[in-house]
Amino acid sequence: MSRICVYLGSREGHDPAFRQAARTLGHSLVERGHTLVYGGARIGLMGELANSVLEAGGEVTGVMPTHLVDREQAHLGLTRLIRVTDMHERKASMAAHADAFVALPGGIGTFEELFEVWTWGYLGLHDKPLSLLNINDFYTPLLTFLDATVTQGFMATATRDMLMDAETPQTLLDALEMHLQG
Ligand code: AMP
Repeated sequence: MSRICVYLGSREGHDPAFRQAARTLGHSLVERGHTLVYGGARIGLMGELANSVLEAGGEVTGVMPTHLVDREQAHLGLTRLIRVTDMHERKASMAAHADAFVALPGGIGTFEELFEVWTWGYLGLHDKPLSLLNINDFYTPLLTFLDATVTQGFMATATRDMLMDAETPQTLLDALEMHLQG
């Protein structure tokens, strides 16, 4: 059993495949005996994922700063809603409560969280695995840019390789579980 922290949009995005991926990931987490840690909202892909885990009988921990509880419409049906004072505490708390990190499609909040936790890994503050769920090529331009960052001499290959990517929730969880066991 692992605690998987997922960063994802507070919006749904236009492609219905994004919602479907969130739902499939939620169900797969429960089937495989994992629990979910996320930002605690009931809107967008965040809400979709939390609901799919809860529907399947799984456990969900949400972490939300008090000032966002109304604005982001906190999900009040979670197993546990941790209220924190600010965004920094939110990210630290989410990371502390997780064994692995996943990013689904999202906007700047998702990107910021992903890059921060990746940077923490790069600086040796944790060695928890990290993966993107690249649904319908949403993240392909980013992956191309990250590869260019290596070839342009701004990032080591070992750092680039810390961020895995997968095209389906199943292959993503297969890879994460291999890392978590190894
Ligand atoms: P978004 O991907 O922009 O829809 O945001 C997804 C989540 O990231 C939401 O729960 C936001 O509250 C959160 N978020 C937005 N900005 C930040 C930030 N600067 N640091 C941490 N989380 C953020």
